[in-house]
Amino acid sequence: MDSYMAETKEIPDFEELRKLRLADDGYFVITDSARPAIVHKVNAKCISVDAFNVKVGINKGKQGGYFWVDSLATAAHEFGAKRCKVCKPELFLVPPSNFEERR
Ligand SMILES: [Zn+2]
Repeated sequence: MDSYMAETKEIPDFEELRKLRLADDGYFVITDSARPAIVHKVNAKCISVDAFNVKVGINKGKQGGYFWVDSLATAAHEFGAKRCKVCKPELFLVPPSNFEERR
């Protein structure tokens, strides 16, 4: 149970992107040949359909692609992804203040 199971898959088209956003699970990693990979929340406003269409549709992934990952740990481990400064995917689901209240 405690073995490291990283789940990641490339997003091939807009339909798949749409489905993953509806499922509202995991994170998106956007890779770029010129910049470090960035991890975003799946429903972040910074995930742009136009940018997706350019990167995946027009450039065919030559300058980077869109990937889905199961966790921020996977994003860091598999892609060396940095967290997006706009949508700020959090490392912990429970805010630190909740931990203090339980003591
Ligand atoms: Zn973002």
